[in-house]
Amino acid sequence: MGCFLITLQRKFYVVTEEEIKEGKVVDVYFLRTLKTMKRLGISKKEVVAEIAARSLPKSRIPPHEPWKWGVLAGVEEVVKLMEGKKVDLYSLPDGSLFHPKIPIMRIEGPYEEFGALETSILGFLCSLSGVASAAAHVKIAAGGKPVINFGIRRNHPAISLAIERASIIGGCDGSSGILVEELGFKPVGTMPHALMVIAGDQVKAWRAFDEAMPKEVPRIALVDTFFDEKAEALMAAEALKDRLAGVRLDTPRSRRGDMEEIIREVRWELDLRGYKDVKIFLSGGLDEYSVARYAEAGADAFGVGTRITGANPIDFGMDVVEVEGKSIAKRGICSGSKDLFRCPECLTYSITPKGAQAPVCDRCGVEMKPAYVKMLEKGKVLVDFEVVSKLRERTLSQLRKLGLLKS
Ligand SMILES: [Zn+2]
Repeated sequence: MGCFLITLQRKFYVVTEEEIKEGKVVDVYFLRTLKTMKRLGISKKEVVAEIAARSLPKSRIPPHEPWKWGVLAGVEEVVKLMEGKKVDLYSLPDGSLFHPKIPIMRIEGPYEEFGALETSILGFLCSLSGVASAAAHVKIAAGGKPVINFGIRRNHPAISLAIERASIIGGCDGSSGILVEELGFKPVGTMPHALMVIAGDQVKAWRAFDEAMPKEVPRIALVDTFFDEKAEALMAAEALKDRLAGVRLDTPRSRRGDMEEIIREVRWELDLRGYKDVKIFLSGGLDEYSVARYAEAGADAFGVGTRITGANPIDFGMDVVEVEGKSIAKRGICSGSKDLFRCPECLTYSITPKGAQAPVCDRCGVEMKPAYVKMLEKGKVLVDFEVVSKLRERTLSQLRKLGLLKS
């Protein structure tokens, strides 16, 4: 009977927001630990825990070195999770660039207040920062040209909005799901191959799309359904004339050949016939390696799916570094409560023992600034949550400062 009821409640086996807040997403060993601690009478001990990434995922660009930095996302969710717990929380804000081994967050309070929330704390940070980091690396590869998240189909639908938000924090210019309107972004997308296949004629399909859509929807024709990309791009231009905003190439793998040459050829033929304003939009199996090459060849914008939404999670770990004011940590972790400073010029981080004076940047000779924002005091939220466009701007401004992004 119990099983039957659970099945009814969970049509899609999704954990609700309330259950996450109640701490139901928890590895059982934390609960067993708490029970054991209570027996020892130590569960209320004041501890300091910190969160840092052990390493970062590998780039898709040869020689496939691990990324040197990632983009932090999921902090707002962690703060909301911890709201009401008797803890103080210090963190880099969402949209901060971080490196492995840099403690991005510090939590202070009785262990029993947050120990069993570790699973969900890390879940938010690892998953969402993985997506934001991948988005940022693709955005750089595109040379700043528009990158749209097309990948929500690669994730469980229950987390689609969280994933879309993280992709935008990482620098994506938009996303394809209609719920992104809640984040202040217009969903982006035009037509799948199914439209042309079912219409049986691509020109008929593009014309009908043009007639059916409101003015503000850009006319971007998918031009690789039945014929060659060049042939269909010209057909689309002839059909929609100056109403055509762009052509989308979503060339299947089996037909791909030299995609850079195809892009150059389509550009040439469109330009030759006076369609210089028609943009070339690319999608289908893209990653930072292919996007860099296609941007160079003249593609104007990119729809990227799996590489962003299916990104590897960041392997953040949480470690206790202080117990009742005494510095203590496991092997491999530096003990003691720490502060984090950052150079306002070169964005380098410096880790110091908590309470130490602001260090001076070796490279720039300027005083570093405190990098943590105090977000919770005894469970009370001290910050206003920022809109996603502002978080995205934080990410992009750091990339510009580091010279990784020009525009
Ligand atoms: Zn510096």
